[in-house]
Amino acid sequence: MTVSPFSDLPLPQALLSNLELLAYHEMTDIQAKSLPLILEGRDLIAQAKTGSGKTAAFGIGILFKLNPTYFAIQALVLCPTRELADQVSNELRRLARFADNIKVLTLCGGAPMRPQIASLEHGAHIVVGTPGRIRDHIGRGTIDLSHVQTLVLDEADRMVDMGFHEEISGIVSACPTRRQTLLFSATYAEDIRKASAAFLQNPTEIKVEAQHDGARIEQRFYDVSDKGRNAAVAQLLNHYKPVSTLAFCNTKIHCRELAAELRAQGFSALALYGELEQKERDEILVLFSNQSCSVLVATDVAARGLDIQSLGAVINVDVSKDTEVHIHRVGRTGRGQEKGLALSLCAPNEKKWVKLIEQYQKGPVQWFDLAPLEAAPGQALQAPMVTLLIMGGKKDKLRPGDILGALTGDAGLSKDKIGKINVFEFITYVALHRDSAKQAYAQLSEGNIKGRNFKMRFIAAT
Ligand code: ADP
Ligand code: MG
Repeated sequence: MTVSPFSDLPLPQALLSNLELLAYHEMTDIQAKSLPLILEGRDLIAQAKTGSGKTAAFGIGILFKLNPTYFAIQALVLCPTRELADQVSNELRRLARFADNIKVLTLCGGAPMRPQIASLEHGAHIVVGTPGRIRDHIGRGTIDLSHVQTLVLDEADRMVDMGFHEEISGIVSACPTRRQTLLFSATYAEDIRKASAAFLQNPTEIKVEAQHDGARIEQRFYDVSDKGRNAAVAQLLNHYKPVSTLAFCNTKIHCRELAAELRAQGFSALALYGELEQKERDEILVLFSNQSCSVLVATDVAARGLDIQSLGAVINVDVSKDTEVHIHRVGRTGRGQEKGLALSLCAPNEKKWVKLIEQYQKGPVQWFDLAPLEAAPGQALQAPMVTLLIMGGKKDKLRPGDILGALTGDAGLSKDKIGKINVFEFITYVALHRDSAKQAYAQLSEGNIKGRNFKMRFIAAT
């Protein structure tokens, strides 16, 4: 593999130094392929799997052209969901840290209009949002897109799936014709090409093959009967005991059924699928990422775009008939330099899909036996953390430090017993080591946080 340092690109020194601070020492494949073209100002259709660093690719492109002393919306990024928009905004803010005063504004549905309008009046350089809400602002005349130089359609395939085509058309017409348009997606380039032809000018198409590093990710296949699938998942979890597992099913119904069966056996398992409300989805993802939930059972679409740092294992509860989807699933484990484990359950009628996988990866897959897998001695797999929900958040001026202080003050908990703290508008989630949970609850509910008493309760993935 060739190493491509960011310093190969004509970027300002301050931006390069900031990338070093973020520990982005070299470009990912998609960045190395797309950034030279992006910096030249070309339109692009870029396809690469989740977790490949697409945000920084367009983020660096946006910042390269941006003039911080000019107060106008110079870049617009459209994302399919609020959650992805938040993720993109956070990454853009990290990338923009090298310069003072670059304002990134997130505009999504589900939030009140008025504060968004006030923020727009205040001025922003980059807007990240969902198509419906941006369209609303255009309709009300509260957003001026006439200075946009860079328009990004992120997770474009999913936006098309979600039926946003009309909104996007409207938004594109509100942007200047002279602009750069960058389209990013994880799959299905063909549909996207058709749907977006009108938005792009002579685009270059780039694609990073969804091939993953076979040396780092261990793939194991197991024969199962259709009926034995869910039991096999439990067997694998008890044997390998990964701290965090993403288990993929083809349908929402199967996701819910499997998560419920696992919970009944004492696993901390939750299901993630398309039709959840945003609040439920937020909570599930918080519990999974703070290690209060050890198994997330998800459909492919629902898991798309999520930036999940470290996954001990991926389980393919069924083999996907789409080989790229399979490769994409497997690639979610073993990110960065970590070793990955991908376990696939295959019923007799799915053998034909395994053949396709073997053709794709140009070599046979390895088969293993379920029967000899016994649970490693000790308890059944349990998540190491539990989550305390506090009924107070940003609106109450709570910050993670306040909660940390309240927990560790007055001979309280030691810091290593406290995990992630996620502060939302009205609520906060605090991850605590299972064995310190009671003490933490007592400490917080008997004492106070910043002189105030907040209601709180434990939420569980069981
Ligand atoms: P995608 O949009 O392709 O799914 P993201 O943009 O969310 O991927 O990036 C996935 C993760 O990789 C993020 O946590 C991001 O901070 C990190 N990342 C991006 N570029 C680099 C890089 N060049 N070196 C190291 N980490 C990177
Ligand atoms: Mg992305």
